[in-house]
Amino acid sequence: MTTTRFAPSPTGRLHVGNIRTALHNWMLARKAGGTFLLRIDDTDAQRSREEYVDAIRADLEWLGIAPDREERQSHRLEAYEAAFDKLREAGRIYPAYETQQELELKRKIQLGRGLPPIYDRGALELTEEQRAAKEAEGIQPHWRFKLDHGEQIQWDDGVRGSQKFDPATLSDPVIRRADGSWLYMLPSTVDDVDMGVTQVLRGEDHVSNTAVQIQMFTAMGAKPPAFAHEALLVGKEGKLSKRLGSLGCDAFRERGIEPEAIIALLARLGTSQPVEPIANREKLLETFDLSTFGRAPAKFDDAELDRVNTAIVHAMPYAAVKDRLPEGIDESGWHAVQPNVATIGEVGEWWRLVTGPIEQPEFSDEDRTYLAQAAQSLEWGDDPWAALTGALKEATGRKGKALFLPLRQALTGMNHGPDMGELLPLIGESEARSRLERAAG
Ligand code: GLU
Repeated sequence: MTTTRFAPSPTGRLHVGNIRTALHNWMLARKAGGTFLLRIDDTDAQRSREEYVDAIRADLEWLGIAPDREERQSHRLEAYEAAFDKLREAGRIYPAYETQQELELKRKIQLGRGLPPIYDRGALELTEEQRAAKEAEGIQPHWRFKLDHGEQIQWDDGVRGSQKFDPATLSDPVIRRADGSWLYMLPSTVDDVDMGVTQVLRGEDHVSNTAVQIQMFTAMGAKPPAFAHEALLVGKEGKLSKRLGSLGCDAFRERGIEPEAIIALLARLGTSQPVEPIANREKLLETFDLSTFGRAPAKFDDAELDRVNTAIVHAMPYAAVKDRLPEGIDESGWHAVQPNVATIGEVGEWWRLVTGPIEQPEFSDEDRTYLAQAAQSLEWGDDPWAALTGALKEATGRKGKALFLPLRQALTGMNHGPDMGELLPLIGESEARSRLERAAG
């Protein structure tokens, strides 16, 4: 049974990179008929905020990637404590007393000698008495996880293929602060074990965390889940951009982007499959496959999102938009304006041509005569536009722009817009006649 999780820290709003990770975890679970968890990583009480938890839930709901279950790290402190005690008894966690400055100095010296800045395990050298002396001085220890240097770390990454790490090239990670609070590394591993997570899919900035966490799983007697690390999302220009880090659902909504457009883009961005305006999630799921993910950064381009969005809007059935349309628009109204809008928000602008009032341009005398003739020839049948333009063509010899443009301008006040054949029946006979008469002066 597949279980995936999306584990944001509620220290801010979701951005497009987080959304992508959430989506891919949701897709992995859905495709396998498994469970998708939302895990709120709120062990950092100072930076975590309830309003962000609410916003994360609301954003996921808007995107339609709602979790099957929610978990919170702040409710699981006992489990972390228990795991901590066990690992400590097993000699895999040790106290360390260095201050930030001491650690910084050690790093500088190592770098100065051309050595990698790996923690030197100085704390492991301390005798019982030295430790007692530190604590008598009032120095509380922070805690590190002791990596097993005797064992190479290896996994078959769902995106990156075979991965190997020599643990001696990694620092023993600090897992708990002197004030007892938790850093990310251990709680996440404990949760993945307890919650039966089978697949961890996250950004490649977590690759070295995975190396450490694999040893934690093993130390806890658990089988590590399958891991996959996707390449990061970058701006069109190819760089990690600040803008992407704050681009989230509110901005998308304001711009009139449909959740389905975000989903369609992010499902395939950075994969070998083409981004297409597919509003059907089942279809996207069919082709979703981690092995199609590339290792190059995925480029996020706003213009591409807009294109996908417009194509999706142009294919949206009335039933899907009905509740979001301005008052009075029925199915034929939607069909009339649909090809002319890039977002649902633009519908109102075109619909105003139907409901009026409209502002007509100045017409030449010749056109006024023509429009007076039009008002007289107006006949209301199945297709009043075809009937009107047919009759006028015959009677006046006008064709092309000269035939159509004054009519469109008189009937809508615009030089372009939705198909007149669809619009005219919506404007209605008496309103159409009065607009033509008004234009004729
Ligand atoms: N809270 C972590 C983050 O946002 C979770 C990483 C993970 O998926 O394990 O980076």
